[in-house]
Amino acid sequence: MNRAQRRGAALRRELGLRGQVDVEAVAAGFGLGVRPWHFDVQTEMTMGGEILIAERLSPEERRWETAHAIGHRLLHRGNHLEQPKHVRQRHEREADDFAHELLIDAEEALAEGFVHSWEIAEHFGVPGKAVRVQARLVPDEPASQPGDCPRRGY
Ligand SMILES: [Zn+2]
Repeated sequence: MNRAQRRGAALRRELGLRGQVDVEAVAAGFGLGVRPWHFDVQTEMTMGGEILIAERLSPEERRWETAHAIGHRLLHRGNHLEQPKHVRQRHEREADDFAHELLIDAEEALAEGFVHSWEIAEHFGVPGKAVRVQARLVPDEPASQPGDCPRRGY
């Protein structure tokens, strides 16, 4: 697991969450309110102490986007839009990694005996397209420090 995945999984464990996460309660634990908002294109945005979620979304999508926004809040500092594109893309991926581990527990899915991704999506109340069948195949981030780069000396 990478840093974002570890953070999401740790939070799920710490809070003793099972099944469908009450993600608004999780946000409240970090002092964040969640409010539906009339975005046309955008899906979520955090302003001050509030996560704004597009009101056009399904409950499953709202759960996912709220978890994603909490991920940004815990993992990334500063104004997202001021970051260079490659950093923004990395942040987006990390927020999704965080959301996946906060909302979907692979052990719990195995224990339930789920076979199909739709069963997992339904059980955890997340959008079907968010379920990653290869979640556990994502390689760990290298533990070494920058100075320990194995390519040093080439
Ligand atoms: Zn985002």
